[in-house]
Amino acid sequence: MNRELMLHSLNESSHWDIIIIGGGAVGLGAAVDAASRGYKTLLLEQEDFAKGTSSRSTKLLHGGVRYLAQGNFKLVMEALRERGLLLKNAAHVCSNSDFIIPVYTWWGKLYYGFGMKIYDILSGKLGLGNTKIISKAKTHSLLPSIKIEQLKGGIVYKDGQFDDTRLAINLAQTAAEKGATILNYGMVTGLIKENDKIKGVLLTDTLSRKEYQTNAAVVINATGVFTDAVIQMDNPKQPPLVSPSQGVHLVLDKKFFPGKDAMMIPKTTDGRVLFAVPWHHKVIVGTTDTPLDKITLEPIALEEEINFIIRNFNKYQSTSIQKEDILSIFAGLRPLVKIKKVNKTSLMPRDHKIVISSSGLISITGGKWTTYRKMAEDVIDKALVIGQLLKKDCVTKHLKIHGWQNEINKTDALNYYGSDLTELKKLYLENKDWTLLLHPDFPYTKACVILAVRNEMAMTTEDVLARRTRMLFLDAKAAIETAPVVSRLMAAEMNKDDVWIAGQTKSFITLAKRYLIINQQQTL
Ligand SMILES: Cc1cc2nc3c(=O)[nH]c(=O)nc-3n(C[C@H](O)[C@H](O)[C@H](O)COP(=O)(O)OP(=O)(O)OC[C@H]3O[C@@H](n4cnc5c(N)ncnc54)[C@H](O)[C@@H]3O)c2cc1C
Repeated sequence: MNRELMLHSLNESSHWDIIIIGGGAVGLGAAVDAASRGYKTLLLEQEDFAKGTSSRSTKLLHGGVRYLAQGNFKLVMEALRERGLLLKNAAHVCSNSDFIIPVYTWWGKLYYGFGMKIYDILSGKLGLGNTKIISKAKTHSLLPSIKIEQLKGGIVYKDGQFDDTRLAINLAQTAAEKGATILNYGMVTGLIKENDKIKGVLLTDTLSRKEYQTNAAVVINATGVFTDAVIQMDNPKQPPLVSPSQGVHLVLDKKFFPGKDAMMIPKTTDGRVLFAVPWHHKVIVGTTDTPLDKITLEPIALEEEINFIIRNFNKYQSTSIQKEDILSIFAGLRPLVKIKKVNKTSLMPRDHKIVISSSGLISITGGKWTTYRKMAEDVIDKALVIGQLLKKDCVTKHLKIHGWQNEINKTDALNYYGSDLTELKKLYLENKDWTLLLHPDFPYTKACVILAVRNEMAMTTEDVLARRTRMLFLDAKAAIETAPVVSRLMAAEMNKDDVWIAGQTKSFITLAKRYLIINQQQTL
């Protein structure tokens, strides 16, 4: 996947079957779907792939235990089916994990045990294994840091986990391999209309500032929390469709939550669930659900959200964590579909919605990362009708995602590169220096940076440290320390000068400071 080639194909073509605006889970999924059906597809992302909400998830592939409690069986079943498909089609970036619900009342043991059995049943043939009720001693051995006073035991259930941005990059690569033109730093600034019908888009390459106009049979708006901004390019009077809700995660050293299994706290003080999930040798704790009006690509955690997570996590731990223990804080905005008379975002359904304007603009929003493939299938089915394209069937149910491998070597710390691990190892032969680690606390080698530039369309230091590797999300201080070396490696590969190196390093450090607890407090 190469940006120069993408720009070349943008220059060569003035008409597409389908243009997709937005390079998050939904837009990338739609590009894979459209291109694999054989449609001439262009995807435009204003910044980097998964820069928005799709890099900020809890990293779960799940039906949603909370939606089960709310009685939304349709959503849970659909998500469980999609979870099963993803674990087959992208096994290198997804895994089947054990989640433990610690219970402190006998009644809780029965209630959650029964609930999770229903979860198993709803998974059907794509189930990951049976729920088990375990003793207090077993719960303590699996969750060694758990508070044991009053503990009655636990429920172990199976769910999926993944690396959200690695999957996003792999989806972009899959779409490109199927013939799509995929452009990051390609911002849509306007819609082209003829006789009140959408005919194409105006876009700016934000790296070169060059502007383009390009046409399509149909345009899809998959811009997450920015959905209304694009709808208003079409019709400024259109009332908002999306209700943004912020979710925050804290990342801690693994010593605060030893063991290999995840924990699900079934009822926080605000009646939601909270997860502690081992991820890339750290632990992610979250999340919150805070309605917000301000829409930005870099949301900031509120102090009360940080306190809420610490308070609820500590309630279940034998030793308490403090703010100083946090390695990184990240916040994301859920693009929830507005529902009349429902103000509490935690009560808004997570189902997706497709809206078609009178001009033919198709907007898709809501949903979950887990259901991106089904959302993509649904929106492309609609696009064929609106764009009057020749109908071809969806083929993504069994389509292997870039990087998929039959056998995954789980002992290799970089196994989530899947089949690209071979490419990485070829780079070790090309330059011995590239075998060196970027930072002593992380398995990423210098070759990961080279691969990101050559094959993954990384254009900035942030692209590498936030989304090709996950260092920014895992440990913001370590990412800051690594920024100069990443900028230099990229500059050598991309033929950039010292001014570029200094500029990239500086702007990455400014951004990364927002992920540190001390600076979060100052930004408030
Ligand atoms: C805190 C939190 C935790 C979550 N955890 C989970 C989880 O564990 N599992 C799960 O399944 N789901 C989870 N979700 C939900 C999931 O992350 C989202 O549903 C999904 O990522 C949304 O993807 P999207 O493509 O709609 O939006 P986004 O990822 O935001 O993508 C939209 C893209 O459009 C781009 N864009 C906007 N305007 C323009 C323009 N004018 N031109 C070009 N591009 C533009 C943006 O830059 C952005 O990259 C979570 C969400 C949150 C907030």
